[in-house]
Amino acid sequence: MEVKNTIPFNKPYLTGKETHYIYQAVASGKISGDGLFTKKCHAFFEHNFGFKKCLLTTSCTDALEMAAILLNIVPGDEVILPSYTFVSTANAFVLRGAKLVFVDSSSDNPNIDIEKIKACITPKTKAIVPVHYAGISCDMDAIMELANANGIYVVEDAAQAIDSYFIGKDGKSKPLGSIGHLAAFSFHETKNIMSGEGGMLVINDAQFAARAEIIRDKGTNRSAFFRGEIDKYGWVDMGSSFLPSDILAAFLFAQLENLSDIQKRRKEIWERYHQALQNLVQAKKITLPFIPSFATNNAHMYYIVCRNANEREGLIQALKSKGVLAVFHYLSLHKSAFFEGKHDGRILPNSDFYSDCLVRLPMYYELELDQQELIINTIQQYFQNV
Ligand SMILES: *Cc1c(COP(=O)(O)O)cnc(C)c1O
Repeated sequence: MEVKNTIPFNKPYLTGKETHYIYQAVASGKISGDGLFTKKCHAFFEHNFGFKKCLLTTSCTDALEMAAILLNIVPGDEVILPSYTFVSTANAFVLRGAKLVFVDSSSDNPNIDIEKIKACITPKTKAIVPVHYAGISCDMDAIMELANANGIYVVEDAAQAIDSYFIGKDGKSKPLGSIGHLAAFSFHETKNIMSGEGGMLVINDAQFAARAEIIRDKGTNRSAFFRGEIDKYGWVDMGSSFLPSDILAAFLFAQLENLSDIQKRRKEIWERYHQALQNLVQAKKITLPFIPSFATNNAHMYYIVCRNANEREGLIQALKSKGVLAVFHYLSLHKSAFFEGKHDGRILPNSDFYSDCLVRLPMYYELELDQQELIINTIQQYFQNV
C-alpha cells in the first residue's frame, strides 16, 4: 500500500532570517572563522545563559575532541561515560588513547546511573562525561561532588540540552552546560537550535580558556594576536581546525534570535504527547519520559519506552503503515562491534533495555495538530491489541 502524507521524524525549521544573515556575512568580506556573527553567537550565549566563555565549533564532536585535548587525556587515563549515548561522546576520548569505562543508565531515565559511577572510579580516572539525554539533566550536584572529591574533571555532553536547567540543592537553577569544567553543545539539524552541522565548547573553568582558543585555531595564538595582545603569532601548542566559517554562525544566529519561540512551540507538542499517552502508562503498557524534580524539560525529544523489543517493532511498523516515521535510538556502546572485546564484562541492563525498547516520535516545529493526532491515535490503536 502506498502511503501518502509522510510525517518525517525530524524537519529542520527555518526562521526566515538565515539566508539574510548569510548574505550579510558574505557581504562583510570576512567569512572565515570568528567573524561578526560568531561574535554575536558567543555574546548571545554569554548574555542569555551566563556561560563564561564559549567557542563555536564545527560540531559537538569537535567540541568533545577539544575537551579531551584540553584535559590532557593520555593513554591509560580512564574516562567514565554512559553506554547509552552517541558515538562521539566516546570517540573523542578514544582518539587520545583513553580507556573507556561505560556505566549503566538509570532505571527511570536513560541518564547515567550516579550510584554506579562510584564503583568505577580508580586513581586513573581523569574525567566523567555525563550526557543530558533528551535535554533532561543528570544530577549535577551528585556528579560534581563525586568529581571534586576525587580530583576528576567533568565534561557535560550537552548536545541535546540547550535551554535546559539543573535546579541545585541550593535552589538555584543553572543552565546545563554551565556546571561541568567543560561542556559541549550540538547544532546538528536534529537539535532544537541548528545550523545543519555545528557545535560549541563552553569553558567554565578559567584555567582552560586561553588554551582552548589555541587548540581551536591549529595550535596557534592567532586569537590573542587579533585582539592585539601579542605582536606576532605562531605555533605554540597542538591543535586543529575546529572553528566554523562565519556563514555557519550567521545561520545559527538567526535561529538563536528565535530561541524562545522555537522552545514554546516544541514544548506545546511535547506536552500534547505527554497528556495524550498517560492512559497507556496507567495500563502499564509503556513508560514516558521521567523528569526528576531537579531537572527541567527543553522539549528536545519525545520518546516512549515499550515493554520489550517486539512491541516496539510492532509500534514502529504500525506508525510506518500510516506514513509516520518513528525511530529507535542508541545501541549500547559497550556491545558495539568496536568496543565489545574491550569491555570489562559488567552487565548494563538498563542501557540494553533502552536500546531495545525506546522509540522516538516525530518532534519538530512544523508538526501540525492533525498530524500529531494521527500519531497519537495510531499509538492508542496499536496498544489496544497488545
Ligand atoms: C548530536 C549529539 C552529538 C554529536 O553532535 P554533532 O554536532 O553531530 O557532532 C554528541 N552527543 C550527543 C548526546 C548528541 O545527541
